[in-house]
Amino acid sequence: MNSNPPATPSPAGQGSPPALFVENVSHSFGEKKALDEVSLVVPAGKFTVLLGLNGAGKSTLFSLITRLYDNVSGEIRILGHDVRRHPSEALRQLGVVFQSRTLDSDLTLAQNLHYHAALHGIGTKMARERAREALETVSLAERAGDRIRSLSGGQARRVEIARSLLHRPRLLLLDEPTVGLDIGSRESVVGIVRGLVERNGLGVLWATHLIDEISRDDNVVLLHKGRVLFSGTVPGMLAAAGESDMRRAFRRMTGTEEMEAA
Ligand code: ADP
Ligand code: MG
Repeated sequence: MNSNPPATPSPAGQGSPPALFVENVSHSFGEKKALDEVSLVVPAGKFTVLLGLNGAGKSTLFSLITRLYDNVSGEIRILGHDVRRHPSEALRQLGVVFQSRTLDSDLTLAQNLHYHAALHGIGTKMARERAREALETVSLAERAGDRIRSLSGGQARRVEIARSLLHRPRLLLLDEPTVGLDIGSRESVVGIVRGLVERNGLGVLWATHLIDEISRDDNVVLLHKGRVLFSGTVPGMLAAAGESDMRRAFRRMTGTEEMEAA
C-alpha cells in the first residue's frame, strides 16, 4: 500500500497529481470504527463538499490528513506527497481551518497572522506582505490593527482563512466553517473560498452537514457512518439517488433526515 513513488509530476509527465488523494483510509477509536475504507479525490481548482451528519467522520478524516492522528491504514497524498513518508513536503501544500476557533482573541489580526507565519518559517518582511495580502483576500485589511475579540464570528472565520493562506497552500481543508454564523456571514465565507478555487485554482475540501451550501458545479463526497456512500458531481448524485433535489437525494442515500444548523 505504501509502495508507490512519492511523486510530484509523474515521470511520464502526464498531468499533475490531485490536490488531495485518499485511498482506503480507516480509523478506529477503540472499538468504534470512525472511518471505514474511505477513498476520495479533491482535484485542483475544485470545490469539493464533504457532506455528512454529525458523527459521520469528517473531523476524524481531517485529523488524519493533517497528521494530528497517524493514518495506519490506507494512503493519503497531498499534491502527490504521501503524508506519512514525506510529511513536510505534503503539509507545506496544506492550509487548514479547523472546526474549533484557534485565534488568540487578545492579539490583533496582524499579530495572529505574523505569529502563524513565523511558525511556517516565513521571515518578518515577507510575513508582513503575506499578511496584508491575505487580509485583503478576506476583505479585512482595514481591521489589521484591531483585536480579534472585536470581530464578529464571521469576520474571525475570515481571519482564520487568511491565516491558512499565508504559506500559499494548494489544498485547503475547512471543517464546518460556517456553523453558528448568520446567513450574511455564511455567504461571505463561502464566497471567499469559492473565489480562491476559481481565481487561484486551489483544491478545497469543505466539510459540512448543510446541504444548501452545495452548488451545482461542486463535487460531493457523501460520508455516512464512516463510509463514503457517494463521490462525484451533483447531477451524478441526483441520478444515483433517482431524486430531483439534493435534500431528497441525501435522505434517500443515508436513510436519515439531514441536520440543520443550530
Ligand atoms: P464529524 O466531524 O463528521 O461530526 P467525527 O469525526 O468527529 O465526526 O466523529 C466520528 C465518530 O468518531 C463519532 O462516532 C465520534 O463519536 C467518534 N469520535 C471522534 N473523535 C473521537 C475521539 N477522540 N475518541 C473517541 N471517539 C471519537
Ligand atoms: Mg466534526
